Amino acid sequence: MSSTPSLPRGRFAPSPTGRLHAGSLLAALGSWLFARHAGGEWHVRIEDIDPPREVPGAADAQLRALRRLGLHPDGPVLRQSTRGALYARALERLLDQGDAFVCHCSRSALAAHDGIHRHCVAGARRRDPSIRLRVPEGTHVAFEDAIQGHVSEDVHAVTGDFVLRRADGYWAYQLAVVVDDGAQSMTRIVRGADLLGSTARQIVLQQRLQLASPRYAHLPLLLDARGRKLSKSQDALPFDEREPVAALASAWQLLGQRPLRTTPTDPHDWLAMASAAFEPGRIPRGPLAATHNVADIGAP
Ligand SMILES: [Zn+2]
Repeated sequence: MSSTPSLPRGRFAPSPTGRLHAGSLLAALGSWLFARHAGGEWHVRIEDIDPPREVPGAADAQLRALRRLGLHPDGPVLRQSTRGALYARALERLLDQGDAFVCHCSRSALAAHDGIHRHCVAGARRRDPSIRLRVPEGTHVAFEDAIQGHVSEDVHAVTGDFVLRRADGYWAYQLAVVVDDGAQSMTRIVRGADLLGSTARQIVLQQRLQLASPRYAHLPLLLDARGRKLSKSQDALPFDEREPVAALASAWQLLGQRPLRTTPTDPHDWLAMASAAFEPGRIPRGPLAATHNVADIGAP
């Protein structure tokens, strides 16, 4: 925990499902710039709560790539796989408050309701029930995103009662993120727009856990030449770690920033210049077509 909690605090929180690619580089640099430009702290959290999707060695490769880029966190890297006790405590509290409930519904039973859980429809009890957050009618969330503008959502209608602990026993992303952002006193969440749709649920959870809501900035999505989300496509190539400044400069350009006056060859010098020159208001909403240059940064 910081000794100066009034400083803005941001984080980059990759899942260890592969190497950093152009999209995750954008999130890493974007979150770093927002924090540093405001004189704040920047942290790194490895979101390794989904072992079936994890790629062995990916977390270490991601951390090595960040070091080569000159993006050094202000404190130890936090790994969500070590934080189960904290998530369990939050879940217990939500159950005690009557905000969470045990659910025996199967995916196939919910399919008849557009896959959205608004009340239990299960006929039989399962050996491995999930635990959901109760989202009653009238649960509306509105927030101002620094890049995407005004966002409002009827969470009951759009997502319904959402999962906090999965039927397979793993923690749901929404719970882990909200508990950690709260425990780490994060004040500014900067991440890809693919997570914009998770934000209303996270704000509902923050309210139930009486946590302050951070400010949000969702960076433009990067699409490949066929209009697919870059990180999900075959073209999600890792960037070339041997050319950190070129990788940073490509991300800088995608963030709509003016070219720097000079181009230092050391990434630390480049970052110092960039954090001073950063203009958050220039970031486009997107989505952006990744240029040939960026999509191919990692080509051998
Ligand atoms: Zn149910």
